[in-house]
This record gives sequence, structure tokens and C-alpha cells, in this order.
Amino acid sequence: MEELSGKNVSYEKDEKGLIVERMRETTSFLLEDAINARENRNKYFQKGLAYLQNNSIMGIINEKKMRFHWNINFYIDMFGKCNANCQFCINRVNFTRDDISDTEFIRKLDHAIKKTRFLDPSIQIVGGEPTIRPERLFAIIDLIKKYGLRKPIIGTNGSGIIDYDILDYVEPVIDHLNISRHHFIDFESDRLMGFSNPLDNSRLIGIMNKHPVAKKIRLNCCLLKNYIDSYEKIIEYIDWALGIGIKNICFSTLSKLPENYIYQKDFIKQSEYYAIDFGGIMDAVKENSHFDFIKFHTGSHCMYEVWNYNHAGTSCPIVFATSDNNYARMLDNLDDLIELLVFHSDGTLAGSWNKNCKILYIDSSST
Ligand code: SF4
Repeated sequence: MEELSGKNVSYEKDEKGLIVERMRETTSFLLEDAINARENRNKYFQKGLAYLQNNSIMGIINEKKMRFHWNINFYIDMFGKCNANCQFCINRVNFTRDDISDTEFIRKLDHAIKKTRFLDPSIQIVGGEPTIRPERLFAIIDLIKKYGLRKPIIGTNGSGIIDYDILDYVEPVIDHLNISRHHFIDFESDRLMGFSNPLDNSRLIGIMNKHPVAKKIRLNCCLLKNYIDSYEKIIEYIDWALGIGIKNICFSTLSKLPENYIYQKDFIKQSEYYAIDFGGIMDAVKENSHFDFIKFHTGSHCMYEVWNYNHAGTSCPIVFATSDNNYARMLDNLDDLIELLVFHSDGTLAGSWNKNCKILYIDSSST
């Protein structure tokens, strides 16, 4: 056993080899498992939860002993506001996403990072739209560099990355730039996101041709009724993306959402309206010779299938993801089990997307 300790933290974890062995338990290379999981989500999400519990590492934050995901994500909810207006935005929650000054935000984030560094978390910067506050984004990038944090990813609607100063600053540090692109036609993409996105296809092609960030771009496409909602549309999307040089694509369903939780009622309704038949799409993927199954992974409320797409001499791994936040909500009741870390926009560090749940640390001093 390995043990580390710091001012307010300590942890112990199994030898690395053992953890790697255990990691395989929820990753299957059998198509049969992926198919079974589509039909029996409950069983597989339970499996993901059991895995999380059995492979957690112990840690103490502010004198409270808890179990943490051994490969935990630290989400930085950088800013509550966005210039887009997607009807299915997951930020439509019923608690306020308060903002604080940049100085205060960065000071609190610095403290939160120090408290959780023993977990060696990977980093995801999300929002709101991170690129509409470049000064704050740059200060976060500086912290990532200062602490040598692992696998930083930025999630963006792409509107701000037409500014090459932003790209030049973030590119050397980040692992991936995840761009939400829910349709390959500008008009449809704008209609869905409720704004005229400055990152239209021609500017995206410009970035792909001119900027080193090109090789780090991943497109996230939500599968939504009347937009990308069928096998044929998925193929059109992939061919468009490959045509402009993007070889990293994730298609995901909107998550199923629990009622009487943190989500606004109209958002729940919108999510139900846009829901598509994931199983039907995956059946078509299976039947088509362009796709070869690679692997399947289940977490406590998300599942991923990875397939290889081959066509006209090009090949590219494609991720299909589906999730159910009813299961994420159950985790909120397991007080000492922390699957993810969320640094909320008001400076609260919590073990949940619910700002008022599993609070790990609040720095109440202000600048
Ligand atoms: S771009 Fe993202 S954060 Fe902005 S409204 Fe759409 S889903 Fe929400």
C-alpha cells in the first residue's frame, strides 16, 4: 500500500498494477455485452456502481474520510453564462449559478486544487461558455501549468475559438478541445443552439488547415430528434467531419433526467421531446460493414461503445455514449462515495453537479 498525506488530506491506494487489472472489469471487448447493456441498463449501471465502490481510493478532505473514484475527473464550471441558448442545455438547473470576480475565482480554485491534488484528477473546463471569459480561462490554464494537472480538456460551443489568441494560449496545454457541433449544416446547428455561431463551417475548416489545435479537436454531437437522429444522418455527419480532417467524434444521447431534482421542468420536457431510439441506431451500426466493434465500457450512469468506422480508405474511432442521470442522482445519497469533483462557478467544491450536495470545501473568505 502507498500512503501520502498533506495538511488536510491523506490517501492510500492499491498498487498500480492491481488497479489496472480491476479497470478491465467494466471494459468489455465483447459486442454481446454492449448489446445486453442496451437492453438491461439497470444491471450494467449497477455493475458500474459496484466497480466504483470496489475500486475507490480512500482520502480525507477537511478531516472527513471518503472514498473517491480512483481515476477521478475534476470539472471546473468556469462561468454560468453562455452566448448560446440550447433548449436541451444541462445547465437549466433550479439553483443559482452565481458568479464571483476572476481574482476570487482563481484564488478559490487554487485552494480546491491543492486540497484534491492527492487524487491526481484529470481536468475538464466547462461552463457556460468558457471562451467568453478569456482572462479567467487563461488564469485557469496557468494554474494547470503550475500544478502540472493531468489531461486538461476544454468544452466549448466554439464561438470564441475564432480568436486565434485563445487557441494559441490553450493549445500547448490541453489534451483535447471538445467542440459541441450538433449538426453539420450551419443553419441547423444555429437553429438548435439558438444563436448564430461565429464558428461556422468555413471558420472551422480554416482552423483545421491553419492551427496546431486541429489535431486536438473532438466533435461532440448530441443525437436529437429531427436533427442527427438516424444511422443515415450519422454517416453524413462522419463523412463531413472526416472530409475536413476531424477524426475524433462522439455521438451521445441526451441523458434521462430525474424529476424533483436539480433540473427545471421545461428542460426535462425538452429532453424527452428530443429523445431518439439509441438501440435502433446501434442495431444499424452493427449491421453495417463500415463499422467494426472495438469495446464497451460502463460507468455508474454512463455507457460508451467504441466502433471503428472504415470508408473510402479512411478510418476513425467513433464513440457512442448514453447516460441516465437517475443513477447519477442515486450517488448523491451515498455521502462518502465521490465519483467526480465539481468546482462550481461560485467557488464551491462539491462531489456532485448538485451544488448543494456533497460539499467538500467552501472558502468563505473573499478578496
Ligand atoms: S452551448 Fe452548451 S452551455 Fe451553452 S447553452 Fe448550449 S448546451 Fe448550454
